[in-house]
Amino acid sequence: MVLMMTNCLKFVLLFTILLSQLYSIATVDEDIIMTPVLVKDLTPKLMTPIFEVMRCHGEAKRDKINTENRNHNKDKPKPIKKPIFNQYLLITILSKEEIDQAKNWGKSFPEEFTDDRRLIFLLNERSHGKEYYNPLRELHGEIIAIHFGEIERLMDDFRKNPKTKSKYPIMLLYSHYIPCAHVQNLGYSCSEELMNYAKGRIQEFIMLVAYTITYKNTDEQSSFNFMRNGGINAFMHMANGEYIHKLKVYTPSSIDGIKKTFQGEAFDCIIASPPSRCCTGNQKNRAAITAYFINHVTYQCISKSNAARFFTELSRNQLKICLKKEIDKNIGDDCIQCSRKNPESLNATKAFFELCFEKSIEDSQVLGKPRSHNQYDPNWVPCPNCNWNVIYEPPGPKRNKDNLKK
Ligand SMILES: [Zn+2]
Repeated sequence: MVLMMTNCLKFVLLFTILLSQLYSIATVDEDIIMTPVLVKDLTPKLMTPIFEVMRCHGEAKRDKINTENRNHNKDKPKPIKKPIFNQYLLITILSKEEIDQAKNWGKSFPEEFTDDRRLIFLLNERSHGKEYYNPLRELHGEIIAIHFGEIERLMDDFRKNPKTKSKYPIMLLYSHYIPCAHVQNLGYSCSEELMNYAKGRIQEFIMLVAYTITYKNTDEQSSFNFMRNGGINAFMHMANGEYIHKLKVYTPSSIDGIKKTFQGEAFDCIIASPPSRCCTGNQKNRAAITAYFINHVTYQCISKSNAARFFTELSRNQLKICLKKEIDKNIGDDCIQCSRKNPESLNATKAFFELCFEKSIEDSQVLGKPRSHNQYDPNWVPCPNCNWNVIYEPPGPKRNKDNLKK
């Protein structure tokens, strides 16, 4: 079996036990059970004061930065001009009692909010240079908040703060524009990322979004659909200073009933294929080697990922880009039986694996975690509430595969 493997795909040369022991899967949720605040109690009348505080705070910060940037831009040629922003995002987490109090705050946050970093203020990032986040386009505040730990930090603080730790968290997001959806060539939808974050977590927190207007390139209906799917309620600012409950979601969203996993689909796709049959010999070896290959490349791609839970347009694309690289790295011309060092045949094999992976990502909603400690076992359990980077345990010291016995 070892001979067959080394003849074929480079990945099997990594004979180290890569994924031998499973992490006890760390999930996103924790064991905090509280009685959720009911949506019907979060009326526009109750919410208007806190949203007004958020809007005023966010606009003031944005406008201050815009003023500085305009001053900087005087007489500057185009390439070094600083950006002027419409959009901003302000996030905070409050208890119901604090929301009740907000009408007495006089249109600004109490000091503890600004001092204790209970607010996250974010502008869109231009030229952010992040490889897996469409570096040619802006990175929106929602992505920064969810993928780069900001929102988790806020939630951790809320759960540690003696004043709030026994309270049910109400997560409020205020942005000038409604969370975006299907903006052309952006590569992600913020409303989908919010859905992915909030879906099925009503026992942990409730998310409310408020906004001033809809950006012209956002598909407003899709934004509402994503948010509805995530159990997120939306409020819109009106000219008279009040807020209307624009999107009402009374039924909690759920993450149950997921069956297909990316790895399981990929396994089914690859196992029946001519390249796989050619490379891996008899049925038993084929299953083991294919499972190992899928576990190996998936681990390479998700161990450093910031993504969590379900696939979104963003995380699907991130996984696709990475898997393509892994295929290039791991399928070489040592697949003698199949390619006979023939580049065309090798390219066809690579293209086939790529196709299988892409199709499997589209056909499934989540990643799976291996059912057993055995990385050759082609069995995966759906992991709809997992941070991707803890689905597999990190490998121990890696052996140099070139030093391994052939
Ligand atoms: Zn956005």
